[in-house]
Amino acid sequence: MKNTLAVSSPPNDLLLKLNLLIRLRWGGIFLLFILLSYSLAFWEQGALIYPLLFLLGLTLLFNIALHLDLRKRHTAKKIIKMLNLQFYFDIFFYLFIFHFTGGTGSPFFILLLFPAISATIVFQPPGSYFRAGATLLMFGLILYGETNWHMNPPFLMIISMKEKTILLFIALTGSLLLSVYLTANLVQHLRQRFKKLVALQENLKRSYFETVMGLAQAMEAKEPAIREHFERTILYATLIGKRLGLDDENMEYLRFGAVLHDIGKIGIAKNILTKPAKLTPEEHEQIKKHPGIGAHIINGVEFLKKVKPIILQHHERYDGKGYPQGLKGEEISFLARIMSVVDAYDAMTSDRPYAKAKSREKAIEELIREKGKQFDPGITDTFLEILREM
Ligand code: FE
Repeated sequence: MKNTLAVSSPPNDLLLKLNLLIRLRWGGIFLLFILLSYSLAFWEQGALIYPLLFLLGLTLLFNIALHLDLRKRHTAKKIIKMLNLQFYFDIFFYLFIFHFTGGTGSPFFILLLFPAISATIVFQPPGSYFRAGATLLMFGLILYGETNWHMNPPFLMIISMKEKTILLFIALTGSLLLSVYLTANLVQHLRQRFKKLVALQENLKRSYFETVMGLAQAMEAKEPAIREHFERTILYATLIGKRLGLDDENMEYLRFGAVLHDIGKIGIAKNILTKPAKLTPEEHEQIKKHPGIGAHIINGVEFLKKVKPIILQHHERYDGKGYPQGLKGEEISFLARIMSVVDAYDAMTSDRPYAKAKSREKAIEELIREKGKQFDPGITDTFLEILREM
């Protein structure tokens, strides 16, 4: 067998073709084998030895071809590793059956080749564990059928009753053990698939966050201090969200909202945004457009659909005197009500172009004063609790 696998030379052309043939035309090959093997089974027994040996050889070749991708170069070490235990188990298994079914004179193991070959071809590695399971199961069933339902020759025609009983026991026990093994294997396989899926999802989430941060960078061009603002906003919003028991999904929206709530300021003139004095009523009207512009910017971005209310409503007031829609109380999205409190608190405690930062105590006083007016009372209480602990 080792000679056939020219270890360090390029893949043998014949094997390469066989490999591809099996992969692409397995159905045709399988049918051919059924015909060939059946005609062999009805032949005179003495003449069976050479075709049977040929079939055995071919089955082993199938195994090699399926275990190795012959289009690639392989080192001896790699080949041994790739052929793995399954392969050696196959050889042992075939020889075992060969011996116990009456050696070279038995037509029985032709039957064994059907499930073995078909399962090998259908369930390509790593699913090839099924091959051994399917083989044993078929083997057990045939034996069981022969013993209990008196199936006619050519099946098992030269196996003595004693050998049949031993084989039946071995086959059924083997089938059971393999079923357990296969199930465990399948579970492990599914678990790995699941892990991969989770990793993929994490990756997607990270890309989402990077996209959002990219959008945020566009805002930095207009308001250089905005990064620190939304970093603190993320922190406060996350703390409130956690304490209020928000689920992972809503926490994610809240974080995105914290970064993007002022994205609409991209559409407001820089001189208004950075004006070091009180704004005129006209300028104030301009500023009031930023939630609407922001919502418009992210409109149509599927993963930001639930973030849109945060952007659009973060300047709404609990008493209905906010903008742009004048929504009141619970008409305002819950996440937007959280954003409203943390955004206002951070604005108060930061230096703005038109005003110096308030002290933490003054800002807390303001939160208490506006509780139930500008801000949702429950959320404000939660935030005050957090601030006192900080
Ligand atoms: Fe804003």
